[in-house]
Amino acid sequence: MKIFDFLIIGGGISGTSAAYELAKFGNVALLEAESSLGYHSTGRSAALFTRNFGNKTVRAINQVSEIFFNNPPEGFCLNDLLTPRGSLTIAVPGQERELDLLFSLATEQNKIKQLTPEQTYEMAKIVKPEQVGIGAYEPDVTDIDVASLHQGYIKGFLKLGGEIFKVQPVEHMHYEDEIWQIKTGKSAFQAKQIINAAGGWADQIGVLANATKIGLVAKRRTAVVVEAPNGIDVSKFPVIEFADTGAYIKPEGGKLMICPGDQTPVEPQDIQPDEMDVAILIDWLQNKTNIVVKRIEHSWAGLRSFVADEIPVVGYDAQAPKFFWLAGQGGFGIMMAPALARVCASLITQDKLPQELLDVGVTADSLSPNRFSN
Ligand SMILES: Cc1cc2nc3c(=O)[nH]c(=O)nc-3n(C[C@H](O)[C@H](O)[C@H](O)COP(=O)(O)OP(=O)(O)OC[C@H]3O[C@@H](n4cnc5c(N)ncnc54)[C@H](O)[C@@H]3O)c2cc1C
Repeated sequence: MKIFDFLIIGGGISGTSAAYELAKFGNVALLEAESSLGYHSTGRSAALFTRNFGNKTVRAINQVSEIFFNNPPEGFCLNDLLTPRGSLTIAVPGQERELDLLFSLATEQNKIKQLTPEQTYEMAKIVKPEQVGIGAYEPDVTDIDVASLHQGYIKGFLKLGGEIFKVQPVEHMHYEDEIWQIKTGKSAFQAKQIINAAGGWADQIGVLANATKIGLVAKRRTAVVVEAPNGIDVSKFPVIEFADTGAYIKPEGGKLMICPGDQTPVEPQDIQPDEMDVAILIDWLQNKTNIVVKRIEHSWAGLRSFVADEIPVVGYDAQAPKFFWLAGQGGFGIMMAPALARVCASLITQDKLPQELLDVGVTADSLSPNRFSN
């Protein structure tokens, strides 16, 4: 049986981006439980890139990802990975302090403009005027072409000689004579190293490997798509975010995607929207905006998986030999993927972080799974 240098579990954006980077250093197998890659979180995101989202470490990682997004390798994709969108966060009148944290992140290179209630309303006329206080406008928030990013990694990986095995849910693994023996429902594989990029299932994979438990919690997030109000062209609207709830409205192919900003802990699964959550969301929408929902065009839910400090978990496990974590990407896994894939390859092949991550203050210890082993 072929012995792979690296075996990656999970074919979402985390697994495929790591596969692409690692295929430059050895032979790589990527195992995916589903019949299509990106079926879970990766195919269910809001596809946004924003510099001002998440904690300090996440924001630093995203700074490095942005370089890749703006300048992907030759032939990686046919179109731009980022397209301008802009984001407008609205404070309810009287609750302006809720924008303080966001404004505190503004720098010369990272503009966040304070708008008066009148200017804010002018940009977000679908919101009821009495709900509009001051606004924070971030011109540099962009849409990510997630499909092109994911496909770019998959095609690049295959071109480098990588092998993808679908419908291969990993069920057992053990380490013997410096080789991992992996069993799926229908096949067996051997590899020198394992990379655990199983999204919401990463802790379950860790258990199979007798690795550290990182305390990953999968959280459901819901989205619906509805018609835009008659006669309003929303295609150039920014994302409209609401500081009081974390809900947001995003233009989506001439319609509007609405997300309540929910994060309900659930067991990892093929998550579906909860009917009650959707009903509450539609009620909120009709109170907050002038949108009259005649029909829900489409609804879905996805998993955002976090550890306690909401910093991704990237590094070798202290208990399980040659078992590497790439998990806990939370609500930022698409935007962090280019940088984290480089982190993964660099830690595995050179035992250090890439210089560009060190330059923005990210340390290997802050990402290490071993922060959970005490
Ligand atoms: C509604 C919503 C909005 C979001 N918006 C954004 C956004 O705007 N920007 C952003 O950057 N992020 C966003 N995110 C977060 C982002 O989608 C995730 O962080 C990212 O997709 C995680 O990718 P992943 O590859 O780690 O996980 P996944 O895409 O879930 O991939 C993990 C894969 O592992 C496979 N797997 C699991 N167990 C096994 C096993 N035993 N054997 C083999 N394979 C296995 C699964 O089938 C799955 O395909 C959003 C998420 C949601 C739900």
